[in-house]
Amino acid sequence: MRLTVEVLGSGTSSGVPTVGCTCKVCTSEDPRDKRLRPSILVQYEGRNVVIDTTPDFRQQALRSRMTRLDAVLYTHAHADHILGLDDLRPFNFMQRERIPIFATEETMESIRRIFSYIFWEGETESSRPKIDVNVFDSRPIDLFGLAFTPVRLNHGSGTTHGFRFGNIAYLTDHSDIPSESLPLLEGLDVLFLDALRLKPHPTHTTLDRAVEWVERLRPQRAYFTHMSHDLGHERTEQKLPAHVRLAYDGLQLVSEAGL
Ligand SMILES: [Zn+2]
Ligand SMILES: [Zn+2]
Ligand SMILES: [Zn+2]
Repeated sequence: MRLTVEVLGSGTSSGVPTVGCTCKVCTSEDPRDKRLRPSILVQYEGRNVVIDTTPDFRQQALRSRMTRLDAVLYTHAHADHILGLDDLRPFNFMQRERIPIFATEETMESIRRIFSYIFWEGETESSRPKIDVNVFDSRPIDLFGLAFTPVRLNHGSGTTHGFRFGNIAYLTDHSDIPSESLPLLEGLDVLFLDALRLKPHPTHTTLDRAVEWVERLRPQRAYFTHMSHDLGHERTEQKLPAHVRLAYDGLQLVSEAGL
């Protein structure tokens, strides 16, 4: 199976540039320093699956020229990962079908509360996203012949989920990877990891700690994501080993092996 991963956004919750900031990275001319909120698009066998619908989802779908959407997987219910849910509507119109979404029970509770109008059963004159809700636990989710295995992660005192599919794992928003999740991360070709900034943060990984995870988990290649304006693309990459790179919006990876 040939599979393409496109990085839709590599920035932290406020995005880069950050509104009002005039720092070197926020005013950089390097397009790789323009980071929308964190998400990826996984394409295979004519299917499009996205992980998270960020507040920038509309812009991301336009930029990547998405013409259909087959499923959404949610990592957790923080605003930077869910607020684009309303922009599923064009796909409902085009495909004339409901879009399946996948989330844990805890994430679904938040989505139902934050997007109560979607779940309200009365009549309305306005259009609402039409979704089918699927709750996942620790078991792999089969989407159109490809298994997405949830990888439990600690996000400060909360929980979030990364996903492994084939030999690729996408782990955003974590401060720690619990030991029971480590066996799911063996033998990876590509590992995406949260690397927020240089200074410690209660709910995210620092750049140095992300490098330590790469050394421990030994993927062929690693890409860092969910980055703040502390990390300028070019300057930061110079300090990293060759097989560890910073993700950037629009980055595409093609995988043929091990799926
Ligand atoms: Zn986040
Ligand atoms: Zn800045
Ligand atoms: Zn988060």
